[in-house]
Amino acid sequence: MDYQPILDKIRKEIEVYAHEGKQADYIPALARVNPDQFGLCLNTLDGKTYRLGDSATKFSIQSISKVFSLAIALSIMGKDLWQRMAKEPSGSAFNSLVQLEYEHGIPRNPFINAGALVSADVLLSNLDDPEAFYLNFVRTISGNPTIDYSDEVAQSEQSCSYLNASIAYLLKHHGNLHNDVNQVLHLYCRMCSLEMSCEDLSRAFMAFAKSNEPFSHAGVNLTISRVKRINAIMQTCGFYDEAGEFSFLVGLPGKSGVGGGIVAIYPSRYSIAVWSPRLNAKGNSIMGMKALELFTSETEESIF
Ligand code: GLN
Repeated sequence: MDYQPILDKIRKEIEVYAHEGKQADYIPALARVNPDQFGLCLNTLDGKTYRLGDSATKFSIQSISKVFSLAIALSIMGKDLWQRMAKEPSGSAFNSLVQLEYEHGIPRNPFINAGALVSADVLLSNLDDPEAFYLNFVRTISGNPTIDYSDEVAQSEQSCSYLNASIAYLLKHHGNLHNDVNQVLHLYCRMCSLEMSCEDLSRAFMAFAKSNEPFSHAGVNLTISRVKRINAIMQTCGFYDEAGEFSFLVGLPGKSGVGGGIVAIYPSRYSIAVWSPRLNAKGNSIMGMKALELFTSETEESIF
């Protein structure tokens, strides 16, 4: 199928949403991003690439980083990782700490901040240089050696990480962080600050779209069964308290970030990344969600 005419049509149709919502501003450096940008990149398993708009512009991947840190943590710990985090949708905001208290420091899933802080802790406990390992992994999986952290975004987030610090201390109190809280927060903010384009993200997530191949990139090795599990958690928990809505509207496993990026996959078929900084109240890109909803509707290609 030639997807380009469908994508061009979608680009026109979503223009009506171009001024809805605004970019994340609780991280000062993200408030300075031009909100009127839009990019999309689709890679199919038969080797074709399709692009729209600012598909090559790098942006802050934020919570999309949680998929990469989960892949590394799962490769290190295998199923023992699930003693330290659950795999249930939270139905709460990504930075909520309420459930942590009554669940005794076990995060509901790896894609809320609490879970990603535990993944960061696993990386710190097991790797000599977690920042370098993480960066090398993402560069390798996306085939782009120019990908890097943003010192500005990482420092900006860490300077006002009061809520994430509260989550980290609660985890520490319950014995679910083994490293120094500040070191964990530092690594977490670094990973969130990574800058990638839709082209980079779509290529990187081909590793998850190839769901019937074992996953082996830059020292990270996942079996087919573990790839299946990461995809399942993207399906059920990839959009915080909007995971049900995304599943309902789009029907693909995916992950969003407050930088306005969303990446989604159709196992054994394609990987698609979209970016537009203006967010809805749940922290997900408005134009991004709309574009993906239209894409799976027009092509009639969702996993459902
Ligand atoms: N770094 C962000 C935070 O911790 C990530 C949140 C997100 O993208 N949803 O708040």
